[in-house]
Amino acid sequence: MFEALTERLGQVFRRLSGRGRLSERDVDEALREVRLALLEADVHYRVVKTFTERVRARATGAEVLEGLAPAHQVVRIVRDELTQLLGGRAEPLRVDPPWPAVFVMVGLQGSGKTTAAGKLAHLLRRQGRRVLLVACDLQRPAAVAQLEVLARQAGVDFFGVPGGMTPPDVAKAGVAHARRGGHEVVVVDTAGRQHVDEALMAEASHIVEAVQARQVLLVVDAMTGQDAVNVAQAFVARMRIDGIVLTKLDGDARGGAALSVREVTGAPILFAGTGERLDGLEPFHPDRMAGRILGMGDVLTLIERAEQAVEAERAREMVKRLREDAFGLDDFLEQLRQVRRMGPLDQVLAMIPGLGGRLPAGLKVDERELSRIEAIIQSMTPQERRQPSIIDGSRRRRIAAGSGTTVQDVNRLLKQYEEARRMLRHLARGQGPRAGWRRGS
Ligand code: GDP
Repeated sequence: MFEALTERLGQVFRRLSGRGRLSERDVDEALREVRLALLEADVHYRVVKTFTERVRARATGAEVLEGLAPAHQVVRIVRDELTQLLGGRAEPLRVDPPWPAVFVMVGLQGSGKTTAAGKLAHLLRRQGRRVLLVACDLQRPAAVAQLEVLARQAGVDFFGVPGGMTPPDVAKAGVAHARRGGHEVVVVDTAGRQHVDEALMAEASHIVEAVQARQVLLVVDAMTGQDAVNVAQAFVARMRIDGIVLTKLDGDARGGAALSVREVTGAPILFAGTGERLDGLEPFHPDRMAGRILGMGDVLTLIERAEQAVEAERAREMVKRLREDAFGLDDFLEQLRQVRRMGPLDQVLAMIPGLGGRLPAGLKVDERELSRIEAIIQSMTPQERRQPSIIDGSRRRRIAAGSGTTVQDVNRLLKQYEEARRMLRHLARGQGPRAGWRRGS
């Protein structure tokens, strides 16, 4: 799924990341291409418009354009906004007492409704639920038999009535049957039509009322693109819809429906159908889907590289400060924190040939030690942190009292700082003016 879109977006971002600094025009140009890619993927034009506006507003801010690796930050913003577009956080299906919890499936004929009912029953049974499938699609002659087969395959119970009853009555009888049988979940399949019509909505609504449905799930066929969105919009406007099941995502290379339906209807996408088999139903995770669309192994790597670039930049900054002899206690603390994460200090050291990434002894700290050091440094004034040489005896006593430590602790910290500073400065100065600034990789 989404192959074409993934490919197109990948091209846009690769081109963007080939540049260093970005101007607002670069971003505009890239977003124009993103817009085209989305429209080509059959995403609803209104959704495309709001999406690109949101990305643009964030991506042309000073923080991005003047920050580090702006192209990668743009990719990150696109990923974030894509996740939002798909609903933000995953909405798990709430399946809890009082039992039975009744789920009613509605949708057009051929949308994959009956299959989805079977898949949902299968999924819930695998979660250890006692499930009853109820056949209320009395329009399509084969639907009842189809559901019975699915129930058998899924290993769940089935309820159907040969004829003579209205669909709401069948549904009610099904729920009564579930109560007697101790079923925890009832999944009701309802009739579809070829097109949205009022009679269909009315019948579905009657069923929903008759069984006091816990949730009404609308099944739409992703392969129908814009039509899927229109259908969903029509349903949401006319009856209660709690969530959407998007079927046949496995067959949709464009992905337009998936990207539009949430934004247009406001209803969350709860599940994605990804095949004809019973196990082809996945809880829908907006973040993962956004990742898939952007091409996991490709564009997301760019983001990771951006993060590394930010770290490398910090390390460069640190080397500069060391050279300028402006390495204060705040820098020291920052370094200790980084060492714990194995961050930039490594890179500082990696930039200095011959050192082989060895850490100065004064920079090895454990967790408890680090919080003590943090407390001490935070008890200092900004000036003391910048210029530790002014910390005399009475200041040491004040700092010890303020941080709940002893004067010896303060002394030890200042000694460690002094050692680290000397060593780092020595290392940094040992190099020619630009040698070692570029990392080998
Ligand atoms: P209903 O009329 O809405 O009940 O639709 P059905 O459940 O009978 O499904 C219609 C067709 O779509 C059947 O051939 C299903 O096998 C197929 N189908 C359903 N869901 C999926 C899916 O997620 N992926 C694919 N590829 N086919 C599906």
